[in-house]
Amino acid sequence: MHIAIAGCGQLSRMLALAGIPLGFKFSFIADEPGLDTDCVEQLGSIVQWDSDQSPIELFALLGNPNVVSAEKEQIDVALLESLAPFCDVYPSPSSFAILQDRHKEKQLLSTLSIPSSPFCFAQAACEAIGELGLPAVAKSCRGGYDGKNQHVIKSEQDAIAFDALGEQDHYIIEQWVPFEREVSIVSVRDQTGHILHYPVTENVHEQGILKHSIAPARDLSEPVVQSARDYITRVMDAIDYVGVMAIECFVIEDRLLVNEIAPRVHNSGHWTQYGSKTSQFENHLRAIAGLPLGSTEHHRISGMVNLIGSGVPAATALSADSSLHWYNKTARPGRKLGHVNFGGASHEELIQRMERFRRDAMGTGT
Ligand code: AMP
Repeated sequence: MHIAIAGCGQLSRMLALAGIPLGFKFSFIADEPGLDTDCVEQLGSIVQWDSDQSPIELFALLGNPNVVSAEKEQIDVALLESLAPFCDVYPSPSSFAILQDRHKEKQLLSTLSIPSSPFCFAQAACEAIGELGLPAVAKSCRGGYDGKNQHVIKSEQDAIAFDALGEQDHYIIEQWVPFEREVSIVSVRDQTGHILHYPVTENVHEQGILKHSIAPARDLSEPVVQSARDYITRVMDAIDYVGVMAIECFVIEDRLLVNEIAPRVHNSGHWTQYGSKTSQFENHLRAIAGLPLGSTEHHRISGMVNLIGSGVPAATALSADSSLHWYNKTARPGRKLGHVNFGGASHEELIQRMERFRRDAMGTGT
């Protein structure tokens, strides 16, 4: 089985690292000029895509893969469509077309009666705040993730400043949600429509970037867990999705509001490499390759700390029950360079380990 992945970042790297033991071969599409490919060096051939290439030429350069997938939602749908006559493409190009656009994603959620934060589209911020109230947040329909391309609107002056950019046709404006905490669900759907869910995970973000995750989430009622499973099942079935998907939600008084859907393996599922019988990476590959899914059961309380813009943590800071994943990227402020997965017999033990690590290896508290 040969799998080509569009994108050359850490998610492609971890997919390949999970697939090599299964006997899979990989190639990677560098879909932007000058893309940093350090993460996937040595893991398969890297092919620079340019739109002048014919699809058959690209397919041959990739080594005639059996399946094409992508590690990021902001992938050129035309690129995926052009390869579809030659091999399977999972998730489908049409799934990406919906889920790479926040407005289309919101429309899908409302068609499926899945709650998300109230929003306006293609409307002046000055009007939108009349409907939504303050604060609000303007989010680019495309290209925004980890809080990028977002403008928090706290006052009428902020709304006037946003409107002056003349970008309103490309943004949704969303009500700022006073959430209690953030959780995500990561699930996998195979080619026959069979779905398995990982436990709902609790996530803490800082400046829009995931700082750490804990799974299963603490003190989440069964109805909330069930609604997370129900929402992701409805989304996956509606678009005949194949592969791993993540949905990020806000928790407010025992109900969930969907914030974002990711058509890919997700940072909040990295703990599955260490705490679950089958990692999200292996299950994505199994799904797209037409293999039976692996168990999503967790075998310990798990946590993940992202290493953002810092150096490699000293080996001594790694406790016996932790595991480092380093992405081989050049360090830059705010860049995700690696993560550490942790296990514990209880949430208390896990949190102590994660706190100790952050203090000793990273010089920060929680
Ligand atoms: P996003 O890029 O939409 O995933 O947003 C990044 C982070 O910003 C989220 O994980 C939240 O912590 C915060 N955020 C985004 N949208 C909202 C909102 N409508 N209300 C409150 N916080 C938000």
